[in-house]
Amino acid sequence: MRDQEVFASVERELNRQRSNIELIASENFVSEQIMELTGSVLTNKYAEGYPGRRYYGGCQFVDEVESLAQERLKELYGCEYANVQPHSGSQANSAVYFALLQPGDKVLGMSLADGGHLSHGHPLNYSGVTFEFHAYGVSPETEMIDYDDFKEKVETIKPKLVVAGASAYSRVINFELMAKIAHDNGALFMVDMAHIAGLVASGDHPSPFPHADIVTTTTHKTLRGPRGGVIMCKEKFAKDIDRAVFPGMQGGPLMHVIAAKAACFGEALTPEFKEYGHQIVKNAKALEASLKEEGFRLVADGTDNHLILVDVKASCGISGKKAQRLLDEINITANKNAIPFDQEKPYLASGIRVGTPAMTTKGFKEEDFTEVGKIIALRLMNDETDEIKEECLRRVKALTDKVSMYKDIKYI
Ligand code: PLP
Repeated sequence: MRDQEVFASVERELNRQRSNIELIASENFVSEQIMELTGSVLTNKYAEGYPGRRYYGGCQFVDEVESLAQERLKELYGCEYANVQPHSGSQANSAVYFALLQPGDKVLGMSLADGGHLSHGHPLNYSGVTFEFHAYGVSPETEMIDYDDFKEKVETIKPKLVVAGASAYSRVINFELMAKIAHDNGALFMVDMAHIAGLVASGDHPSPFPHADIVTTTTHKTLRGPRGGVIMCKEKFAKDIDRAVFPGMQGGPLMHVIAAKAACFGEALTPEFKEYGHQIVKNAKALEASLKEEGFRLVADGTDNHLILVDVKASCGISGKKAQRLLDEINITANKNAIPFDQEKPYLASGIRVGTPAMTTKGFKEEDFTEVGKIIALRLMNDETDEIKEECLRRVKALTDKVSMYKDIKYI
């Protein structure tokens, strides 16, 4: 019997994804083949171990799938070794720390307040609890990574590992320079490229290869695959990384997700995906121009990638939390986000983070994002009135009616 109660909620979520303008920078819409593989019979299979070295019988076909995912990922980024088993980005990062460090070792990562991720040393996260994390960040003037300060910190702290990568940083990250500084000081250099993995694949952000010793990423953000993580590394770290993922951090791999990862890497190797990456950045530039034209202050004065941090506190005197609610009410989905040197508590925040990957997948072009910027301004720069809300809802619908996604899917 089909569980009507659960499917009814999923149907409502499908309709939300169809009718809203999705601006959460870490989200995307996967292809139907990726959804199909995620819901495939591979969900039934236990396959602890690695291709050719499993602890269970009957693994010949899942071996094919995992080897395909590994080979495609290596081809996509030109790396020496790939482990495609981490269940998430955070678990990929944990496995790297577990492989390379001893509890209490010093690590330098980007501060969460300046755009880093929880798994880069937040005191409440496994990373911050287990290792001695120190933080680098952005300059108060430019709101871009302060590489002089970074260098000084590497030289004085002498970390065993340096972590680059961010969740809310809108400018290019100079991996080559950071790798040189880390290596000159005897540290290993790891890049967590979760947010920009798709842009690296399309050539729209400089690659962390060959500079980084280890690279992690999620597969579900700009890379547009299933929810999950992967680790790429130089051959010399392969054994330690494999051991840290299984049996170190995880038991059985999610083979259905690994199949979907293989399809995702296949898609990312196509010329269409390169076009998609270019369009994400063109759309972000159009949104940047539109928001600036409307008078918004943008952190770091704009973007080079797929996301923009908007200082709504300085621009319209409201918190990020309120801005998120006001946009939710007109079917625009974004998230409140702290900005560098934020005076507000993280729960309120002074900014919102907006990104273009999801709506670019749906087919939005520059002119659509120019209109999105104007609708955001109309809603946030004015008093909260029903007339404005209705006008915004009408204009959002005009935009979302132009594109369609998951047309033939029906859960109930
Ligand atoms: N690393 C970065 C830079 C991220 O932005 C994120 C998620 O937002 C992660 C890691 C964690 O990924 P997950 O949510 O899959 O654990």
